[in-house]
Amino acid sequence: MGADYYDTLGIPRNADDKEIKKAYRNLARKFHPDVCKEAGAEDKFKAINEAYGVLSDEQKRRQYDNMGHETFTNASKGSYSGGGGYNSGGFSSDFSGFGDIFDFFGGGQRRSGPQPGADLLMRIQIKLEDAVAGIDREIEVMHTEPCPACSGSGSETKRLNTCPRCGGSGQMRQTAQSPFGQFVRMTPCTQCEGRGKIPEKVCKDCRGSGHTRVKRKVSVHIPAGVESGMRLRMESYGEAGDYGAHNGDLFLEIYVQTHDRFIRSGDNLETQIEISPAQAVLGTSVDVETIDHRHIDLHVPAGIQYNTALKIPGEGIKRRGKPGDLLVRVRIVTPRSVSNEQKELYMKITELEGKNSGGGGFFSGIMGGKKKGKK
Ligand SMILES: [Zn+2]
Ligand SMILES: [Zn+2]
Repeated sequence: MGADYYDTLGIPRNADDKEIKKAYRNLARKFHPDVCKEAGAEDKFKAINEAYGVLSDEQKRRQYDNMGHETFTNASKGSYSGGGGYNSGGFSSDFSGFGDIFDFFGGGQRRSGPQPGADLLMRIQIKLEDAVAGIDREIEVMHTEPCPACSGSGSETKRLNTCPRCGGSGQMRQTAQSPFGQFVRMTPCTQCEGRGKIPEKVCKDCRGSGHTRVKRKVSVHIPAGVESGMRLRMESYGEAGDYGAHNGDLFLEIYVQTHDRFIRSGDNLETQIEISPAQAVLGTSVDVETIDHRHIDLHVPAGIQYNTALKIPGEGIKRRGKPGDLLVRVRIVTPRSVSNEQKELYMKITELEGKNSGGGGFFSGIMGGKKKGKK
């Protein structure tokens, strides 16, 4: 879906923050829908903002670079389980940047006419295993939707009349005297709340607002590899906008819970196993349970050192194309008590280590010294 973000902004992959910002400002000025009347300008503007939203955010940019365009933008595909009649919102990754653009178009002012719906933010917790494999979740969202009785118009007849107070502009002028002269301020019309239109016959169900508050089930695919703090954007699943205006977006902020056996490090998982000193010397094989409860026979080579990480490829984050690995750290646990037979054997080993200490290896200093001291 769409072109590479770097291409969209026309910058090299190693562009720094300054270059990104500069490219964005130039393009945004050029394609802003208020300025550019070219066909497709609005889509272009949206694409520019999307690209900028990702590349200007250090964390998102890193994720984008790692995942690649396809995976990153597909990271959050979902569908509306309720089958609402309006906008089938595709997903794209979280982006911002609109605030920025309106700043330098002398914005900050409430626009007149139908108002778009507000964005919603929801936090959801998932288990580490779900971040590893990805998961489909059904979530319940309270949000406003167009009132079914009046199709969101606020009018029983579904017809709207021009607001008599503001004449349809949605704005009212307030004049005030100041020491610098007459001062005109535009405020949203109090009768139509800036919409410019009022219902012909006020809908009884929604009292003319055109909205109704409902709880809705939304199914969302949370992609493998999500990290705490990442946001998935579900376009147009936020609050309903005014009649004729688009809906807000729903943002899902992910929180990944910690796991008692596995920790995550990038795309890899880490866990640990315990073996005895004898197993460490001779080598062994250990049953390792993966995060999704499968069992893998792990070969531990003879002479393994404490804290060595053995790799089981592909058992980390199940990132499409390039999954991470499972790193198994080996702990060598000294037995606290041993049987008499074991003790004899350990003594024999110690004795042999003493005899072999002539070579000047690791043991020679300690063992040799101890022996002399004892006798
Ligand atoms: Zn009005
Ligand atoms: Zn209604």
